Amino acid sequence: MKTTRFLTGSRQVDRLRCVVAESDLQHLLRGAALRVTRPRLAVLDAVHAHPHADTESIIQATRRHLPDVSHQAVYDVLRALTEVGLVRRIQPSGSVARYEARVGDNHHHMVCRSCGVIADVDCATGTAPCLTMSDDQGFTVDEAEVTYWGRCPACSTTSS
Ligand SMILES: [Zn+2]
Ligand SMILES: [Zn+2]
Repeated sequence: MKTTRFLTGSRQVDRLRCVVAESDLQHLLRGAALRVTRPRLAVLDAVHAHPHADTESIIQATRRHLPDVSHQAVYDVLRALTEVGLVRRIQPSGSVARYEARVGDNHHHMVCRSCGVIADVDCATGTAPCLTMSDDQGFTVDEAEVTYWGRCPACSTTSS
């Protein structure tokens, strides 16, 4: 069920592909001191085109440009892109890892308990961390990870 719904979602996003020009992707890679390679361009493009996609979906999307790319190559590129901060890895509990290209804004996520769809939620105050503790116990806190759980509009209408 989860998979079916997710694939439907990513097919809708497919029509909006190429939201980022290849020259911009090259610029992003160079800005992060990464050499521009075909796999890196294709994976970064796939993550931009499919926000919150899991690794399997990113492999499929990458193979539309680079049919011969291996699973391992995509994993390696995702790790490299995540390490330099071009891609953010999220993993809501009970979900496989997801990747997104919206980075650096400390946004949060809303997850549907029923179909697993993930939506972005802007930070409540705009800067990290957006939750201020009553007692930080001496920790220097730079991030608060918030996940909102519930039901997406599609799931709340179909099951009521
Ligand atoms: Zn749902
Ligand atoms: Zn997000």
